[in-house]
Formats: sequence, structure tokens, C-alpha cells
Amino acid sequence: SKTSDKLSAFLESGIYRFENSNVVFIDPVRMLNRSYTRFRSSPSAYYSRFFDSKETIVTSDSKKRKRKEKKTPHDLNEREQAATLRHQQARPMLLKAHGFLMEATDLLAIMKDLRGGSNICSSTELSEQHSFIELGKVWQAPLYEIVLKGAWKGLERVVPVFNNLVVNETSDDMEAEFLNNKYILPRESCFYMSDLGQVHNLIHECNVGFNLIVIDPPWENGSARQKLRYPTLPNWYFLSLPIKQLAHPDGALVALWMTNREKLHNFVQKELFPSWGVSHEATYYWLKVKADGSLISDLDLFHHRPYECLLLGYFHGQGTNSKQPPRLRPIKHDQIIISIPGEYSRKPPIGELLLEHVPDFKPARCIELFAREMTAGWTSWGNEPLHFQQSTSFVRD
Ligand code: SAM
Repeated sequence: SKTSDKLSAFLESGIYRFENSNVVFIDPVRMLNRSYTRFRSSPSAYYSRFFDSKETIVTSDSKKRKRKEKKTPHDLNEREQAATLRHQQARPMLLKAHGFLMEATDLLAIMKDLRGGSNICSSTELSEQHSFIELGKVWQAPLYEIVLKGAWKGLERVVPVFNNLVVNETSDDMEAEFLNNKYILPRESCFYMSDLGQVHNLIHECNVGFNLIVIDPPWENGSARQKLRYPTLPNWYFLSLPIKQLAHPDGALVALWMTNREKLHNFVQKELFPSWGVSHEATYYWLKVKADGSLISDLDLFHHRPYECLLLGYFHGQGTNSKQPPRLRPIKHDQIIISIPGEYSRKPPIGELLLEHVPDFKPARCIELFAREMTAGWTSWGNEPLHFQQSTSFVRD
């Protein structure tokens, strides 16, 4: 039947499209797995939260919020009013999208099993991570090396791990060893691990001309929890990202993850996109649900919205060889991607969903900035691009 066809397509691809709508549900684990040949991303490692129906978002500032929510519209300052308006505009379609999910009983039945029953990763196993951020800062950083092991015995290379383009050029997963931990590098992928101060080295190290640039910056926000996980940077630092130099001269699709702060929306629209030469084309929403399908928090909670925005823009190139750059197609607005979140701040793998909007180059050349993981065929840059590549997050096929 039609529904079972859709479900088997979902189990194959990790993508479930709700008919006649702008809504998809995705299983990040299944999508990530397309990057690997000999290994599989472990569902129990990915889905570390939101499978226990008792789980709720605990917030330290609930008192403050209560005070805020008592405010009448007249008490809101200009920025809060703008934020409320932005939310009110998105609200009906987010509710509608969530309604589609709650009606798809066959999908809901599969969802609660996405993590699988056995071998739930213990948190101690996951916490034995190297802090690449700390190691990269010490004076010995240039001396740290990673051992790359190809699928065939004897194919072994030792290369610097920091400030160096580390490449798996083979068409198979590669195992790598660094300070007694193992990492899995997907086929035809590479990473450059450095601080933002060295990001310009990418321009000389990689073969630039990217058609798709995905960026998830360490935006500042008030969350104390975030401060423990990774360092953040003031907005103006991102003005210096070399988007123009990384982009293909004929144009590129730029996808930027946002937080819900109104101040940030203003900064991106008025300063950041213009300074990168990027025009805002469309906004996508990532709606976060628990395994039982319910939203991870109340839709109207001011400081903990159960959704985040992804802004899509085009970098309009200058064209090569004095030819006019190709015209870029308009992108459909307001697409909604629903998934069960993984670890704190980890974004779902949306690259594949964006490919149809990438200016006509095949195969598209893709890069992720501030990445914490790798994807087959992609370049990953950030100060910890191996973070989610540790072998304990994978199982052998
Ligand atoms: N997209 C990632 C994911 O889904 O897992 C999350 C990226 S997180 C929002 C931002 C990343 O930027 C963190 O890994 C953080 O360590 C990194 N970062 C912070 N300061 C940096 C700096 N000065 N240079 C390079 N990366 C930095």
C-alpha cells in the first residue's frame, strides 16, 4: 500500500515527506549512515535525549521567565515585540506541521524505536573525549599527529592533526588513531582543525569554489549550559569569515543556523549577510520533537522555543571568464524539518535536503564551517571536527 511504501522509503533514506506539504520528518542516524561503508552510526549514541517520556526541559531561569510572561504586550520593549511577531508568524505553520506528524500513526509507531533497544551508550563512554579545543591551544599543538589507516593493511600515514588538511581520498571509510582514541573518517572527506584565526588557510589548502556552505556559528547566548560545552564568539568575529573566497565564483548556496534572539536576526540581515555578499532567500525551520512525537518544549515558551531557524541565502558570484554567472533559482520558503534532537546543540544533517537548491554543479562541492562531524564528500572545518567521529559512536556493519 501507499503508506507502507512511504515507510520503507523512510527506513531506507531517513527522509519522510508529508504529502502536499512543506514538511519532512528525518532520522539523522539513517541520513548520516549514507556516509559510511563499513561502519554504521550508532542510534543509541546519537539519540542521547528525548526518548524517555518523562524527560522535560529544565531551565534555571524559569522564575525570570514567569515574570516576563506576565507582561502585557504594552510592557514588551521594541525587540521583544519584534521577536513575538516573528514567532506569531511562524506559529500557525509549525502547529500545522506538528499536526501532520501526530496524524501519521504509522510513522509515530516507528519513531519510538529509532534508538533501538539494546546497547544504550553509557555517558561515561561518551565523556572519554579528547578536548581538541584545549589541545589545539597549547604550544605543542603543531606536534600532535594522527595516524590514518586505510582499508588495506600497510596503507598507513602519520600527519599533523591541527592546522593541516587531513584527507581520506579513498572511496571507503578510514580508521584513524589519535592519542589512543579511534576515529572514523568517511570516504572522500577531509577536515581542517584550527581556530577561527587560521580559517584563511582553507583558501590555500583546499581546492576552493564551494557550491554549498553550511555554517553553525558558536553564537553567544545566555545559556550557562552552552558555556560548558564549547566557547562562543561575539557576532562581529563572523564578519571575517572568508565566504567570498570559499564560494564558487559562479555562486553558492549559504545555509546559516540561527538562534531565536531578535538581535541576532537583525545583525545577520543588516550586517553579516551583506558583508559576505549573500542575499537572504528563504527561511527553514527545524522543529524538535521527542520520540513520542510531542514537542520538546511548549511552542510559546519565550526562551526555549522547540524550533530553530536555518537562513538560506545565495552568494551571487561574479562569474568566471567574464561570462555572466548563471541565474539562481528561487528557493521555496518556510520548509519545516522535524526530527528528534541528538546531543546538545547538534544539528540534523540537512546537506542532502539542500542539494536541490545548490547552483547547478554536479557533484556539488560542500563545506561545513564550525563543524563537529564529517560527511562523505564534504570538507569540515572547526576547532573540533572530529568530535562526533569517535569510533565509540559507531558500530561495525
Ligand atoms: N554544527 C555543529 C553540530 O551540529 O554539532 C555544532 C557547532 S557549535 C554551534 C559551534 C562550534 O564552533 C563548536 O564546535 C565550537 O567549539 C566551535 N568554535 C568556537 N570558537 C571557535 C573558534 N574560535 N574557532 C573555531 N571554532 C570555534
